[in-house]
Formats: sequence, C-alpha cells, structure tokens
Amino acid sequence: MKSWILTYHSLDVSGSVISVDPAVFRQHMSWLAQTGTQVVPLERIFESPGAVALTFDDGFRNFYELAFPVLQQYRFPATVFVVTGYCAGKNDWPSQPALPHVPTLPLMNWSELQNLAAAGIDLGSHTINHSRMATLSDADTERELRASQEAIEDRTGKPVMSFAYPYGESTPQIREAVRKRFRVACGTKLAYVSPESDPAELPRLDTFYLQEKLWFEALGKQYGAAYIAARSALRELRSSWNKRH
Ligand SMILES: [Zn+2]
Repeated sequence: MKSWILTYHSLDVSGSVISVDPAVFRQHMSWLAQTGTQVVPLERIFESPGAVALTFDDGFRNFYELAFPVLQQYRFPATVFVVTGYCAGKNDWPSQPALPHVPTLPLMNWSELQNLAAAGIDLGSHTINHSRMATLSDADTERELRASQEAIEDRTGKPVMSFAYPYGESTPQIREAVRKRFRVACGTKLAYVSPESDPAELPRLDTFYLQEKLWFEALGKQYGAAYIAARSALRELRSSWNKRH
C-alpha cells in the first residue's frame, strides 16, 4: 500500500501556485477522516503503509488561523517548516522568484509557533533565510541548518528532527550535512514514498496539483498513481527543457 506526504503552503483564495483554497483544505481533511485514512507524523511515514503525512511550508499565518483549528478538530498530526529569520515577517525573502501572482503574506510569530508546538504540531526547519542552498558556501550551509534548528529548539523546548529544502533544491553534499542534523528531510520530487525513498530527500505530493476533488480522492488508487506519474514526468520534461533553453 502506498504512503504519501502532502505539501501545502498558504491557505488562501488567490489561486497562486503556493495557494490552496481553505474550503478545499477542509474537504481534504474531512475526506481523510471519513475514509479512515491513517494520518501519521512525518517521521513515521516509512513504518505506515497506506498512511498520509501533512506538511506545510514557510509558516504562513493563515496556517494558524485556518489549518490549525481543522487539524485539532480531527486530531491530525502535521509538520510546519519554519523560516526562522522571517518569523512575524512576510515571505519576501531575496530568493523569492518574481513569479506572477505569488502573494506576499504574513508569517507566524514565535508566540503562535510556541502555541503550535505546545499543541503537538511538529515544527521543522526550512532554513533561516529561505536561500537557494546550492548557491551557499559549506560554512553558510552549516549555519543555515544549525542556527534554524537551534532557534526553534530554544523557543519551543522541543527537538527539531525534520527539515525541508527551500525550492526542493539540494546537492549530495547538502544532503550529507542535513543527514547529520535531522532524521528526515523533504524535497519537492513529485512521487509517493517507497521503502527505497531517501529519508534525506523524501518525495512529496504538492496539493497544487490536487485541488480537483477527483484527483485528491484518487491518491490511494491506481488511476491516482498514474496521474501523479504523468504530472511528475511532465514536470521533469519542463525542467530539463528550461535547463537547456
Ligand atoms: Zn519554502
């Protein structure tokens, strides 16, 4: 039985590539509950065939307002990947590509993050500055990993064992550095988790592709897996095309 990790960023109605409509998010959670799908903490995804783990990148304030209450209602575990240098700020980091229609939105502050940690939401690191890691020196890479991990641990008193690569970008060296500090790390490769998946670069299913109810509800089925494989192949094609042109 397949397991998978879902990626959400912002819950808002802008329709951007980082946005899922809050009503669609509620439908997703309600469907998981109704079907009795096992929702597990990220670190347990390998031991849980047929299960789903929920991840939220960047730490948008709308997580606190719109996702947190729903997760509590269903008692679903989730991981929020925090950009520690931008807490209480906005997602206006220098590396943010000038994509059209990507909204600039407030991020959670430390008191909100502490409330989440106290309520059992897992906080993972998403670096200090949301930098493109492949462009950093070894020393800066190490600093982005260590200082972001320590910032969350110092403020919440809980160990930080998970990490997500900004833009999903990593190299073998970066993954080695990540492996030394974290138990699991998420990339953006669009695929299901398998026993062969690398814990330092777990694939995820971005909910941007799953806003149609039909596809979200097909994820545990063969035609859902075929849809993901087709989407993934298209994405690879597009990225190799972009690299060559
Ligand atoms: Zn991010």
